[in-house]
Amino acid sequence: MPEQRYALLGWPVKHSVSPQMQEAGFRAIGLDTAYELVEVPPEQLAHKVRELTLRRYRGWNITVPHKQAMLRLVDVVEPAAALAGSINTVVNADGRLVGHSTDGYGLAMALREAFGLMLPKRHFLFWGAGGAARATSVYFAASGARAITLVNRTRERAAALADAIRAAAPACAVTVLEPAETAAIRDRLDDVDALIQATSVGLHAADPIAIPEELLRPGLNVMDMIYRPTRLLERAAELGCRAVDGKSMLLYQGVRSFELWTGAQPPPVAAMRAALDAALAAQARL
Ligand code: NDP
Repeated sequence: MPEQRYALLGWPVKHSVSPQMQEAGFRAIGLDTAYELVEVPPEQLAHKVRELTLRRYRGWNITVPHKQAMLRLVDVVEPAAALAGSINTVVNADGRLVGHSTDGYGLAMALREAFGLMLPKRHFLFWGAGGAARATSVYFAASGARAITLVNRTRERAAALADAIRAAAPACAVTVLEPAETAAIRDRLDDVDALIQATSVGLHAADPIAIPEELLRPGLNVMDMIYRPTRLLERAAELGCRAVDGKSMLLYQGVRSFELWTGAQPPPVAAMRAALDAALAAQARL
């Protein structure tokens, strides 16, 4: 029996590569630890959380569709999770559950690694306004971003997110647009430091390109949060953009969870990255 147990709660979670990534990290620092995939339907989430707490799981990650519901199931909501409006990491401190969000940190680190970009005084355009866009864009604004532009199919959803950003960071200039407002989007793109694709379009091979290609100019920094090759990334690279997938975001949100659970400094990033790369490559071969 492993000394420490961790888990990922979602519905479904079969496809996740977090176990390989986290277990490689635990091995690298010499901990005897299991990280399990736990499929739990929404109506059983509260029961499962009680069970894991009583069985002394040291912590867990949370993915779709439970990230918002977890806010009501912890004893403490850390500031980044309050800003994000969701929790993706729980630390079980002797039965007291502390909820964190590490998605904003993960995306910030990924942008820094890919493009050398830090958040203060920068302008980011998020294409999408779902849970991932919310968790990251509010964090970016609260971390000093100068401007955030939100482009989303459903305008009301982007407008609600804009309100959350303004409440968290009144100094950040927020603009809301719809995908059809091409001229206005092009104007904004002339000023942005990075375009972040945050919709689920592109997850499946048959999906259309998520962003109209006439908006992609040479030299534009493009990050697709999807952590596999997408048609957007392929086309953006062909058109001269600097285009990267969301693999480093996935890595660094997991690295931050690992730090919160273990306190390991520095965290074993290289081991976790190698395991993540290997797991995704193995999935791609299936
Ligand atoms: P949500 O379901 O919360 O949001 C989905 C978003 O996609 C919304 O903006 C939605 O627009 C938009 N969308 C969905 N279908 C279409 C369509 N056909 N045309 C236009 N827009 C569409 O998902 P999440 O925010 O949780 O996740 C978004 C993406 O981010 C996913 O691909 C996910 O894999 C990725 N992700 C990556 C992470 C990483 O670590 N790399 C971490 C978290 C997420 P509307 O509001 O109009 O419905």
